[in-house]
Amino acid sequence: MELVAQRNLSDRLDWLVDWLYPPRCRACAGRIHGRDAEYFCAACWSQIQLVSHPLCKICGRPFPDAGGDDHTCGVCLERSPRFAAARAWACYPREESAEHPLRQVVHKYKYGRKVSLGKPLGRLMARGCEEFLSELRADLIVPVPLHAKRLRWRGFNQSLLLARQVSRAYGVPVDPFVLQRWKETAAQTQLPEEDRRRNVRGAFALHPDKSVKDRTVLLVDDVYTSGATVSECSWTLKRAGVKEVYVLTLARAVY
Ligand SMILES: [Zn+2]
Ligand SMILES: [Zn+2]
Repeated sequence: MELVAQRNLSDRLDWLVDWLYPPRCRACAGRIHGRDAEYFCAACWSQIQLVSHPLCKICGRPFPDAGGDDHTCGVCLERSPRFAAARAWACYPREESAEHPLRQVVHKYKYGRKVSLGKPLGRLMARGCEEFLSELRADLIVPVPLHAKRLRWRGFNQSLLLARQVSRAYGVPVDPFVLQRWKETAAQTQLPEEDRRRNVRGAFALHPDKSVKDRTVLLVDDVYTSGATVSECSWTLKRAGVKEVYVLTLARAVY
């Protein structure tokens, strides 16, 4: 996949809106100063830890020590994921109690139903993960679907809006109808790893009219926590004949 430069009318309007109404930090709503600051104020930016090497070659978990090469982490050695590789743009601490600007912004987006965050967050993710994305030969982007009930409540699928920005940036089509979530699952946030896997088992199905045989799919989600959801989606896609599945998320919850 190759990053393609395109500016359309909506980008030009963004610039005009920013000029008329100087942008506020998407996390803390404070004023943004300086020309190069984008989307976050300096204080919030300084807390956002971008995913960097060394990391697990499969699940993309960053290793805390700064030195050494990428390698496979203990979790992936023990249980090989169903996808080939996963990467995230940035990390936040997994403990629910920990305040963090990236968690704040993800919560605003998902639970505060702030649909306008889809574009900036999707762009950060698309451009920030260029190293990973440019090596892929993905020919289809699939967002992790929501159950119809949750979609009605939220009004939008947060993963689809992120996926659309990746699609625009790399010129690869996105299809939100390939995967369907037919089992309504309990919220995952409080569940331990094993329960998360059980919770999503059999939750997804391929749309009966879609064929994905021999395709290489980039699966997009908002947050990677245990990997249970994207692993289950990958399993569903692979059983339908998909050649390889790669995963991209905006955030990664880490210990
Ligand atoms: Zn801020
Ligand atoms: Zn791993």
